[in-house]
Amino acid sequence: MSTIPVEEAFQTLEVMEGSFLKWKIFSIKERIEVLKDVKEKLLSDTKKYAEAITADMNKPITQSIAEVKKCAYLCDYYIENAEAFLEPQTVKTKWKESFVTFEPLGVLLGVMPWNFPFWQVFRFVVPNLLSGNTFVVKHASNVPKSALLLEEIFDSKKIDFPVYKNLFLKSDLIKEVIAHPVIKAVSLTGSENTGRSVAEAAGKHLKKCVLELGGSNGYIVCKDANLDLAVTTAVNARMQNAGQSCIAAKRFIIHTSVAESFIAKYKEKIEALKTGDKFDSSTEIGEMAREDLAKELEIQVQKSIEAGAKLICGGKRNGAFYAPTILSDVTEDMPVFKEETFGPVASIITFDDFDEAIAISNRSSFGLGVSVFSTNTELIKSKVPFFEEGAVFINEMVISDPNMPFGGIKNSGYGRELSHFALYEFTNIKSVVIQ
Ligand code: NAP
Repeated sequence: MSTIPVEEAFQTLEVMEGSFLKWKIFSIKERIEVLKDVKEKLLSDTKKYAEAITADMNKPITQSIAEVKKCAYLCDYYIENAEAFLEPQTVKTKWKESFVTFEPLGVLLGVMPWNFPFWQVFRFVVPNLLSGNTFVVKHASNVPKSALLLEEIFDSKKIDFPVYKNLFLKSDLIKEVIAHPVIKAVSLTGSENTGRSVAEAAGKHLKKCVLELGGSNGYIVCKDANLDLAVTTAVNARMQNAGQSCIAAKRFIIHTSVAESFIAKYKEKIEALKTGDKFDSSTEIGEMAREDLAKELEIQVQKSIEAGAKLICGGKRNGAFYAPTILSDVTEDMPVFKEETFGPVASIITFDDFDEAIAISNRSSFGLGVSVFSTNTELIKSKVPFFEEGAVFINEMVISDPNMPFGGIKNSGYGRELSHFALYEFTNIKSVVIQ
């Protein structure tokens, strides 16, 4: 995919500013009608979109289909709820009348990753589209087929202007787009380093940003856990999308008394995952998105083994394919503990006391989410405030769902997507008082 010069991007920004002036006066009901169109396209052409995702970044086709369907589910959620979320809110005050309204900001810039090329875009665009904003999106450079289709999907016949345009720009030009007066705010889903660069540019121009960055989630298995549930859930929690998920479980913090049994059962399950043609619906785990990413992972694993980690299984790379891997005896000084491992590698650390497990889980620069498996849910609930995370899932893997806010703390970023909270990130929350 060839890129455009920044001057061409600026022309697109002017077009989108024109669109914003029209879109912002649409009623919420009219905007919802446009979103219904988008949803219909997702459902009627699921296969076409899924094939583009798979072709772009190697995800097995069944997982790409699930990603497209999840986008339709997200549309349904906001079709049903956005009107109520955006209703002006009356507030009881000392004045005759007072209320709060939610108004769009203008043209928003999205900088998006490749790991869920549809879902990440939908998660950002849909709620903020319904509140009346318009969009320019810079996609990761390795997902051009998905990018082209996304622009087509948001191009609705119900309106005669675009609300969403792609910017095929080199990433070093993004700061110039952020600086442009048409851009009112930016949302990035990507790595920590990109987060620093985008936040710096946004800060320089006093523009709001939401940052959805990396993660190194803990996955705690207590001695009283339902071990079969913990093992079965751990397969998807780590291996889904070839491990390339921000909220994947990465550090498995297992009670010493069940560690051996957990590792044996987990090894059996992940070694049984079916590999093969990415377009074959029986394939369960495929290549990573690019060979250089698999090589980076290989280095993290090798350095950790040199530092004393024990290879239980996997640890082999063939081009962009990295075999599902378990490392035990992992310690906090190793790359697989300190850094995000963006691929199918499960790192095992053991603990004896639950407060120690919390401390190990918190000893990460990231703070996206944690899973805890225990049959004593009341005890774990009482410990929720001690986790430095954006999400705590008990007896479940961390997943994103439109009903629940999504986002992190620490180096995982700031701001929230999904649920009603998403609508307050990119609206002007206006106080109105009448006396
Ligand atoms: P990335 O390298 O940071 O790229 C993300 C996007 O930023 C791409 O569009 C990329 O464009 C662009 N970019 C790169 N450097 C930039 C810069 N200096 N200024 C402006 N834009 C820049 O991340 P990725 O490899 O695509 O995605 C993996 C990372 O995303 C992981 O760390 C993962 O945990 C994180 N992630 C977080 C979430 C979440 O919700 N918290 C969800 C998914 C992924 P190019 O492709 O052209 O370089």
